[in-house]
This record gives sequence, C-alpha cells and structure tokens, in this order.
Amino acid sequence: AKEAGKNTYQFFDAQMNAQTFERLLMESGLRQALERQEFELHYQPQVSCAGGRLEGVEALLRWRHPQLGLVPPGRFIPLAEETGLIKPIGAWVLREACHQMVAWDKMGLCVPRLAVNLSARQFEQQTLLNEVNDVLAVTGLAASRLELEITESMLMHNPQEAVSLLRELKALGVKLSIDDFGTGYSSLSTLKRYPLDYLKVDRSFVEGLPDDEDSAAITEAIIAMARKLKFTVIAEGVETAAQSVFLANAGCAILQGYHFSRPLPVAQLQQWLAARQAN
Ligand code: C2E
Ligand code: CA
Ligand code: CA
Ligand code: CA
Repeated sequence: AKEAGKNTYQFFDAQMNAQTFERLLMESGLRQALERQEFELHYQPQVSCAGGRLEGVEALLRWRHPQLGLVPPGRFIPLAEETGLIKPIGAWVLREACHQMVAWDKMGLCVPRLAVNLSARQFEQQTLLNEVNDVLAVTGLAASRLELEITESMLMHNPQEAVSLLRELKALGVKLSIDDFGTGYSSLSTLKRYPLDYLKVDRSFVEGLPDDEDSAAITEAIIAMARKLKFTVIAEGVETAAQSVFLANAGCAILQGYHFSRPLPVAQLQQWLAARQAN
C-alpha cells in the first residue's frame, strides 16, 4: 500500500508539474499574444428556423500559440480573466469583429448581425460604453447589427448596476442577449427586468433532443415562456436534423450549431457565404 501511495504521489506530482508548466507558458504567452497578433476570430453562422436564412454570426476567439498550436478559449479565457488580460483582449475582439463586418459589407457578402461574447471583467460601465461607442463610430457599423452576449452570472453579481449598464447599451442601439440560458439560477421573470433582446438556450438542453423526455419538456417550456416575454430565442449546439425539426416545432426562431456549420476561420466563412449566395 505504501508503494502504491508513493507511485500515486509521483504520478500527481508529474502531472502537476506539467500543468504548472503549461500555465506559466500560457501566462507569459498571453501577455504578449496581442502585440504578436496571435489571436484570431472564427465565426459561426446562425440561421433562421423558418427558411434557413443567415441571421448572423457569433465571433469566437482562438489563440494561435507558437508551441501549443490553436488553443480553444476554454483553455485560456479563465486565465485571461484571472490576470485581467481579458480586458484588452476583449476590446480587441470587439474592434476586430466590427471591422470584419464592414469588410464583408464592402465585399458584398451579407452578414446581417454580429454577436460578440463579453466577459464579466469587461462588463463595467464607462469603459464598455466607450469601447462600444468608439468602435461603432470608427467602423460606421450600424449599432443594431451588433449583439452583445452576456451571461446570467454577470447580471446577478450586481443587478442594479447591470440594469443601468444594459439600458445605456440599449440607448446606443445595440442588441443584447443572454447566453447559456438555463445553466444559471435566474428565472425568465427575473430576466424580464433587463432590456434583453435574445435568449440563447444552452447546448446542454439541446443535446438530449428529441428523445430525452426531460430535455424535450424543459426546452419546450423555456421557448414557450421566452416567446411570451418577447425574447427572440436562439438554440445553440444544434447538431442534427432531428434537433432542428424539434426546435422549429417548439417555436425557436434561430438555430446555431455544427448541423449548419462549425465556427469557421474568415476565409472559410467567406466561401460558405459565397456558396449560399450563389444559390
Ligand atoms: P459559448 O459562447 O457558449 O460558445 C459556444 C461554444 O459552443 C463554442 O465553443 C462553439 O464552438 C461551440 N459549439 C457551437 N456549435 C456546437 C455544436 O453543435 N456542438 C458542440 N458540441 N459545440 C458547439 P468555443 O469556441 O470553444 O468557445 C467556448 C466558450 O469560450 C464560449 O462559449 C464563450 O463562453 C467563450 N468565448 C469564446 N470567444 C470569446 C470571446 O471573444 N470573449 C469571451 N469573453 N469569451 C469567449
Ligand atoms: Ca456565446
Ligand atoms: Ca452559449
Ligand atoms: Ca458556454
């Protein structure tokens, strides 16, 4: 038993070292990634349930690390939040994605709306308002074509402040959505206090559709109530035709997921758009 304990200890120790090493590598890398231009955005299409029209795209951040390769956001955003680096990174995402929208306009590729994810650290009155205001002024992008995605926890942390910030963002003309709905603790009636336009049903509910009875019941209930409260419902993580049929029947307006397209690098998204516009 003593031997086994020792081995286990050594095993965890080696693993810890690898993790600590990766973290150190990531933290120093993260500090330089912006100036080294290692970030890129991929864009995932969102289509209308009725007719499959392109409704918009969601910008999703990637880090092209010289040693680690293409790093998904789940692996560096928590660290970026801890270190505060998410603020300049988030500001870059907003600028980059808005510039991209205007570039697509000039190319004659029609992307109606752009969704950008905000982090809790970015959700701060004056800085965020200035950033959004500036990017709209500089790019000339119509405010109504920009959608900011926030999460329930960002609202619950300081509801009073959140309401006033959201109102000011709405006054600029941008759209607001609640991401990952159903994973937090807020009810739809609580959410109604905030000036939100879109509600994104979390992937974990969509996953079990159409066969899992609980997922089906919950999804139907969320969509029905959200519609009565005048939210436009977006379902994320749609991977199969059967899921889209179920969601369409339940009254969902917009679908996003691998069934339609994975998040794509700019060049590939442009091909995807051009191919659809040709039809
Ligand atoms: P999210 O906002 O919930 O984004 C949706 C995630 O689901 C994306 O993962 C996307 O690639 C993935 N996804 C889309 N369709 C499907 C599907 O059909 N099946 C499955 N299994 N997955 C699907 P990704 O790109 O790895 O992003 C993970 C999270 O990182 C995002 O979750 C978001 O919370 C965060 N994130 C991404 N970009 C940014 C950003 O620019 N700023 C901030 N603050 N957070 C970001
Ligand atoms: Ca999102
Ligand atoms: Ca989400
Ligand atoms: Ca998520």
